[in-house]
Amino acid sequence: MAYQPDVVFEVTGSLPFIAPIKGIENAVESWDILSGKVDVPQNKTIVVIGGGIVGCETAEYLAEKENKVHVLEMLPSIANGLEYVNRLVLDVTLQQMKIDVVVNASVTDVDSSKVTYTVDGAEHAIDCDLIVVSTGQKPYVPAVVKELQDRNIRVLKLGDAEKVGKIFNATAEGFHKAHDLF
Ligand SMILES: Cc1cc2nc3c(=O)[nH]c(=O)nc-3n(C[C@H](O)[C@H](O)[C@H](O)COP(=O)(O)OP(=O)(O)OC[C@H]3O[C@@H](n4cnc5c(N)ncnc54)[C@H](O)[C@@H]3O)c2cc1C
Repeated sequence: MAYQPDVVFEVTGSLPFIAPIKGIENAVESWDILSGKVDVPQNKTIVVIGGGIVGCETAEYLAEKENKVHVLEMLPSIANGLEYVNRLVLDVTLQQMKIDVVVNASVTDVDSSKVTYTVDGAEHAIDCDLIVVSTGQKPYVPAVVKELQDRNIRVLKLGDAEKVGKIFNATAEGFHKAHDLF
């Protein structure tokens, strides 16, 4: 408020979205693995729940540490939205690292050492040492935004705070929204 702004751009990014799976509190978040907040074990069996771009990236990182990694994705394909060339590289890397990818796999239950999931109605389970959840991101809108709006300050939301996407969308949108002010 010290700036007395006419317009505030709200570009506060996203937070992990944790799918409501029974026992999911036994899992660690992929962001905590990638940021180094959680130490990565070695020579363990690890299940990554969610085979989006971040889940696949996390799986690669874990496999680099000599872990046996399984990725469970509920959609028919993994890493949806990844650019074509990156996609080709990802497929090769996953194979080379012997990362086990299961698609159409809906995780139903998690405990500290087992992940249960169904594929086409058939139940399966993987015993593991670590479970990582990577089921997406959701926009992060801090409380201060409402306070600004309540004071009739114009707030323009963009980037992941508006809709979780990629760097290109966030930067392009930033340019256009700033340009449109004038
Ligand atoms: C693990 C991971 C890998 C990704 N890899 C790719 C990739 O390879 N290519 C790609 O295109 N996209 C990738 N993305 C998506 C990309 O990071 C985002 O789309 C992009 O960063 C969105 O930009 P943004 O400016 O909206 O948000 P962010 O880059 O998240 O920036 C938001 C910033 O706001 C800060 N902030 C939040 N609240 C406040 C507050 N109250 N006060 C002050 N500051 C605050 C945050 O700390 C953060 O620094 C990836 C995302 C993740 C999570």
